[in-house]
Amino acid sequence: MKTVYTYVPSRAHQYSDHPERPGRLDILEPLLDSFGAEKIEAISATHEQVARVHQPELIIAIEEICKEGEAIIDHAPTYVTKTSYDDALLAAGGVITCTRAVINGDAQNAFAIVRPPGHHAEPPRSMGFCIFNNIAVAARDALANGLERVIIIDYDAHHGNGTQAAFLDEERVAFLSAHQWGIYPGTGWIDDAPHAKKRIVNIPFPSRAGDAAYLHAADEIFTPFARNFRPQLILVSAGFDAHWNDPLTSLGITTRGFFLLSQKIIALAEEHCDGKIVFVLEGGYDPHNVTRGVESVFAALTNSGAQVFAGDPNPHKEPDCESRIEMVKMHQGF
Ligand SMILES: [Zn+2]
Repeated sequence: MKTVYTYVPSRAHQYSDHPERPGRLDILEPLLDSFGAEKIEAISATHEQVARVHQPELIIAIEEICKEGEAIIDHAPTYVTKTSYDDALLAAGGVITCTRAVINGDAQNAFAIVRPPGHHAEPPRSMGFCIFNNIAVAARDALANGLERVIIIDYDAHHGNGTQAAFLDEERVAFLSAHQWGIYPGTGWIDDAPHAKKRIVNIPFPSRAGDAAYLHAADEIFTPFARNFRPQLILVSAGFDAHWNDPLTSLGITTRGFFLLSQKIIALAEEHCDGKIVFVLEGGYDPHNVTRGVESVFAALTNSGAQVFAGDPNPHKEPDCESRIEMVKMHQGF
């Protein structure tokens, strides 16, 4: 079966020299048809679909403020333009389009390459460069269409606070975020959700944590997390700002690391849910990293195998993250 993708570059959603800009995708765009996946057209999310995650007051406020033109709406800073409401609906819809294709069996797996990103947006507020929480809206759509157990794994460098907030008390969704500790948005410590052990899992890594730490965490934590929850669908918040050369953060993943990490997550989908998995673009602020990261995910999704992706070795020494991984396992009971 095939791999599909949606592409929502939101060219008019841009603000001065803000790092979350359309240019993030400039190198990637001309290569998209060379990754062995089939493009499908993104369909905009409806107000009703977004309102399964966000309060209607927020959705209306975003629609209204965008009519006024460019504005800064939080201190991250998060911006909107005249087109941002429509762009955000299309970004969320681009993820729904992918998840529905996978759930219906029209595709084996998918990648929603969309912006603005989503994982910081909380039910009552847009924040952290994110307007609506694209992956959360798609997970809610999957639940509304009958799924009972959806896993979201987030390997963006930043904690997926918005996704965690959206599903804090939703037993049908399990959320795991591995991220750099001590940076924006400040949440995501090990015991963020003591009432939801094994279902809400945070792996806060020290700066410079890289391939070894993430791949070890995948074996030691992602695997028992998935076995315990037995998902029918896995969604992945794929942020390539965890690359060692990202301008906003200081983790240590390489392109080969993204490839191997994605392979491990895809293997979990194969073990538990017939390979049903959808990757969703979140952050990543160097256009080369984003391009190589997206290519590595497609290589894993299409099982095209031979790629090595060894062109960008991490020049920094990685810290030993063994004790941090043990702390998470101990807290969760894995
Ligand atoms: Zn990020």
